[in-house]
Amino acid sequence: MGVSQELTALVMEQIHHIKTPRRALNKIKELCEKNLRQEICGFLGFREETGEYIVKQESNVSPEPSSYFLIDPLAYLLFKEQYKFIAIFHSHIVGTEEPSEFDIKMADNCCQPFLIYSLNTQKINIYQPQTVECDVNKLDRIKAVQ
Ligand SMILES: [Zn+2]
Repeated sequence: MGVSQELTALVMEQIHHIKTPRRALNKIKELCEKNLRQEICGFLGFREETGEYIVKQESNVSPEPSSYFLIDPLAYLLFKEQYKFIAIFHSHIVGTEEPSEFDIKMADNCCQPFLIYSLNTQKINIYQPQTVECDVNKLDRIKAVQ
């Protein structure tokens, strides 16, 4: 493993503890803006004990990371176990913040909202499936500052 790869791995594993919903969204934007060639992805959650929002970037393991994202299912389970789940986030490096057909299908399948940030429009869109498993109150707080 080269030095740059090690640094990337460190960045990927960083967990950000954030006090307000607005700052949590800003952190997601900041992470997405750091990579203009690959979709950035990760989880947004809430830590009840400290009242903090949690933003965790995960590795995009998709074979086509410039067009799609894919997260290791184990990382998803571990995050869900530790925190109240709010949303799965990812960036669109081309096009708008609207969910793709693939995004809608994935969100519907895992019953979690998808928060999408477009590098192009610099806007956030939250796609919420009809049935969700996430903490809806916390999601509403995020939506209120979107
Ligand atoms: Zn997408």
